[in-house]
Amino acid sequence: MKQIYLDYAATTPVDPEVAKAMIECLTMEGNFGNPASNTHFFGWLAKEAVTEARLQVADLLGADSREIVFTSGATESNNLAIKGVADAYSHKGKHIITCVTEHKAVLDPCKYLETIGHEVTYLQPNTEGLISVAQVQDAMREDTILVSVMFVNNEIGVIQPIAEIGALCRGRKILFHVDAAQAVGKLDVDVKSMNIDLLSLSSHKLYGPKGMGALYVRRRPKIKLTPLIHGGGHEQGMRSGTLATHQIVGLGRACSVANACLSEEYQKLLSFRRYFIDSVKVIPELKINGDPKHVFPGILNVTIEGVDGEALMMALNEVAISAGSACNSATIEASYVLQAIGLTAEQAHSSFRVSFGRFTAQADVGKLIALLIKQVAKLRKMSPLWRKGKGDVI
Ligand SMILES: *Cc1c(COP(=O)(O)O)cnc(C)c1O
Repeated sequence: MKQIYLDYAATTPVDPEVAKAMIECLTMEGNFGNPASNTHFFGWLAKEAVTEARLQVADLLGADSREIVFTSGATESNNLAIKGVADAYSHKGKHIITCVTEHKAVLDPCKYLETIGHEVTYLQPNTEGLISVAQVQDAMREDTILVSVMFVNNEIGVIQPIAEIGALCRGRKILFHVDAAQAVGKLDVDVKSMNIDLLSLSSHKLYGPKGMGALYVRRRPKIKLTPLIHGGGHEQGMRSGTLATHQIVGLGRACSVANACLSEEYQKLLSFRRYFIDSVKVIPELKINGDPKHVFPGILNVTIEGVDGEALMMALNEVAISAGSACNSATIEASYVLQAIGLTAEQAHSSFRVSFGRFTAQADVGKLIALLIKQVAKLRKMSPLWRKGKGDVI
């Protein structure tokens, strides 16, 4: 049985055009050279491809191509930005501001920094998942060196007030890092007008290959970063290692494809979101989590009271969606993001995330809706807890 893929926030398939460009950079007949080889044609050709890709990435962000550092993904980009700034600016201060609903790839570097003498303030969002500019301002201190706030939340899709926080940080001369893994290629992201100093992106969230990403690092004013990886001095010394031409070309092409169809794709996702929300209104006590206005339309996080998430996952096995709980090897932990916005552990367990993308068809959304309506009714009929709550005599 082939499932319908509705988990684009977890990863996206590589766009066929991207795959084609990548394949051309692998074999003897292709562009396989080392971009750092400057004594022969193979190297020059590879370097040319990398240069073009760097421009494509920069274009999507409104950046200069010299501000793009290629990495292995958003996890590495976040680590480089946060630990790199913490180390390079520790003479100025050791205080960082972030948010409890950030991705683990931001929270864990922050936790690590706390073990070596840095201080981190974790802002609490409101029940809609939003943090306010005032909260960021109130948390700022003399020794604050960095604010790190994600663009789009990967679990609930909420969009933080990035431009407003950026303006505040610029005014206070505090560096501003944004984990934009879920935003780049999907929303308008402009590092200049938003006053972003460092921005992480992930190739596999925008129809490029896995194991590839980039960090935008502002040049004016110049930002110092202590590298995580020392070696041949590639990427202006910020990230050593032979450049992976095929991966870089893949990311570059993914960015140019995204740039070309961004607004059209956004409108499609918005119509799917409206279709879904309108259709599931017939299900009692169904709630869409997160702010309804400041949200990326492709991500929907849904709580269905009185229905166990795991049972629901099994009942919906014709669609590939994500549970509201993160399965760690032994225990099933309720999502910390959902709990941070006020859901109980039980409610978090009764939640799931569905995410639409480039290859989602209206019929796929229709299938999900039909399944959901049918299976929720069935599960609730079997649930003594739910029936009791509704006044049934059991
Ligand atoms: C996926 C994701 C990451 C991690 O990106 P990788 O490229 O898989 O390392 C970081 N932050 C957010 C918000 C994400 O969605």
